[in-house]
Amino acid sequence: MEPQVNLLIVDDDKELCQTLCDIFQELGFGVDTALNSEEAVKKCAEKYFNIALIDIRLPDNDGLELLNKLKKMNPEMEGIVITAYASTETVLEALRRGAFDYVPKPLKVDDVLYTISAALERQRLTAEEKRRLEQEIEAKEFYRSISIIDELTGLYNYRHFHELLTQELKRAKRYFHSLSLLMIDIDHFKEYQDAYGHLAGDVALKVIAQITRDTVRGVDIVSRYGGEEFAVISPETTKADAAAVGERVRNAIAKSALPTGGRLTVSVGVASYPTDAQNKEQLIWRADQALYRAKQRGRNQTCIWEQ
Ligand code: GH3
Ligand code: MG
Ligand code: MG
Repeated sequence: MEPQVNLLIVDDDKELCQTLCDIFQELGFGVDTALNSEEAVKKCAEKYFNIALIDIRLPDNDGLELLNKLKKMNPEMEGIVITAYASTETVLEALRRGAFDYVPKPLKVDDVLYTISAALERQRLTAEEKRRLEQEIEAKEFYRSISIIDELTGLYNYRHFHELLTQELKRAKRYFHSLSLLMIDIDHFKEYQDAYGHLAGDVALKVIAQITRDTVRGVDIVSRYGGEEFAVISPETTKADAAAVGERVRNAIAKSALPTGGRLTVSVGVASYPTDAQNKEQLIWRADQALYRAKQRGRNQTCIWEQ
């Protein structure tokens, strides 16, 4: 069943209101009437109206001003103005101020009905357009998110990591802040997979991604840098503080049992702007070198970049 179309008639002519009310109720509309602007506002606050039929001259207000007020309360509502005489100026002014159309007095029922149908049609199209736009925005958001998010771990992907690091470095330079980069690589992940299989490997990557995310601060940005390698951008953080973050992450991972019952550790390399590097490439390179050193020194440890 179609939802009922609600009509609000605002006119200080009581008899006219009653007549219109009878006619439109007969035609299946839900009809309310108001003799002045105050009453109309009150009714509009209580109920959803598709259409307001408003006398341009009301005892307590200008009909167009009332229309404006009602439209603010219910933007989807279409307003039709009743004019005593249809001068071009009045009509243009009404349309300019948001009326859908006008009907001149004396009212002809067919005329009013035709105008209401047209207003309802526009309302339907506007609603459809709105829905379509919403869907479009949703789809765009979705495609944007899958273009920056790593599907397996839910972390930012490699491409977005680079974008974010560029942005964060710019900010650090502008405000003379430090910024640290942590490179985290799972130790002997190949052996873990050889023992438990690829699927368990995927699960382990997810778990370690989540632990990392939970362990760093909210402002730190965690990305999946590669297969079993993660990167943490740590804004406004010196190398010493970043090393402490690295240790926290490393410890959290080392003490977590994985669903297989096995355990994994990670090695962490840290480098910072501006102490170790002046640009993005250098920063990544040096954090990577620090990571390499952590591996060489026996893994399951955090190394900071040193000359
Ligand atoms: P190291 O301590 O030197 O880092 O040793 P490693 O075994 O962790 O390093 P290596 O680079 O030899 O092996 C990495 C392994 O990570 C090999 C690859 O199969 C696995 N890997 C990379 N990406 C994925 C993935 O998306 N899913 C799964 N399950 N495994 C992955
Ligand atoms: Mg590894
Ligand atoms: Mg690796």
